[in-house]
Amino acid sequence: MKELNRIATTFKESIFSEISRTANEFQAINLSQGFPNFHAPEWLLELARESVNENHHNQYSPSSGNNGLVHELSEYYKRFYNLDYQTNEITVTAGCTEALYCAATALLNPGDEVLLFEPFYDSYLAISQLAGAKAKFITLEKPEFKINASAIEKNITNKTKVIFLNNPHNPTGRVFSHEELNIIAGLAIKHDLFVISDEVYEHLVFDGKRHTPIATLEGMKERTFTLSSLGKTFGVTGWKIGWACGPEVMTKALRNIHQFNVFCANHPFQFAAAKALQKIDQYIPEFKKIYEDKKNLFVNSLEKSELKIIKPEGTYFAMAELPAGKSDVDFCLELIKEKGVAAIPPSAFYQESNEGSKMLRFCFAKDNDTLNRAIERLI
Ligand code: PMP
Ligand code: GLN
Repeated sequence: MKELNRIATTFKESIFSEISRTANEFQAINLSQGFPNFHAPEWLLELARESVNENHHNQYSPSSGNNGLVHELSEYYKRFYNLDYQTNEITVTAGCTEALYCAATALLNPGDEVLLFEPFYDSYLAISQLAGAKAKFITLEKPEFKINASAIEKNITNKTKVIFLNNPHNPTGRVFSHEELNIIAGLAIKHDLFVISDEVYEHLVFDGKRHTPIATLEGMKERTFTLSSLGKTFGVTGWKIGWACGPEVMTKALRNIHQFNVFCANHPFQFAAAKALQKIDQYIPEFKKIYEDKKNLFVNSLEKSELKIIKPEGTYFAMAELPAGKSDVDFCLELIKEKGVAAIPPSAFYQESNEGSKMLRFCFAKDNDTLNRAIERLI
């Protein structure tokens, strides 16, 4: 047999699949992979049912997305962030995962370099490598996980092309401040870099914080892909409806990849998504309150445990520092087998620093009964 793709064959099973499988095997409470175990709002599910019943919704949409959804997205960015994305600057994708893949491959050539803040969401490295790019890592040091200008600048070379930003940040729960976003923007402009900004947790921000898309900063819209998805905001990770917004020239390249990748995202749920976006203004306060309560329940309760919880500012994850001398993978397996609780060992999100091996990531997007049972086992 001839040699298979050299990069694809180096990838391992994702840590999310691995730990969820192990959690099921030992019937552990699964606080690992990020998805809610409770029902999405009934009105949203009804929109999906109604949509599937319309026969013509069950065929392909235009490759760039259902016109109604693209229009609603354009309105949404204006209303929420005063960001003016025209319909030719928006592409509907199969979740944010596909948006990330298309954005990276639309920008990168073999030999380019990308900057990743570690801990990083696992797909960033894989898609950069597939595009033939080399990744450089900037460690956000625990427990503050702050962005620091000199740490970024010393990794910039004349080959650097893309900065991946995830804000609010999985797995640390950071919501980067204006100052931190300004550092990234300043360096992106100074060195003429693109930013791929993954904002899937944009509405999961706590304690009165607000999310700021980096594209709203002066000089940034023209060099940024703003990505997000319906999965987190509406609690429907399986719908896989996401999107990518960016300047027309960048969008054209992204659409070229998207059309030969999936052609279009699933159409019936695009109709439902368009209607859901019409209701998002009323829905968000209630959504935030549900998650803020869960965050408080989990974080406050874990203060009594041997795990030192790092309070998240956003997302539905919380990192916890392990007792000295423990390592994440062993601790994680012990926790699954002995206490029946699964979490993610964050070393999977690091390439350079070994800080990840001193923590665990918990997902608190679970119904209160599940959370309370897990807390009982953890404290
Ligand atoms: N980016 C981040 C930071 C994530 O945590 C996730 C996982 N849910 C995704 C992207 C993937 O989003 P989607 O499920 O819409 O593909
Ligand atoms: N985003 C989810 C997490 O961080 C996982 C998504 C996936 O399994 N690919 O847990």
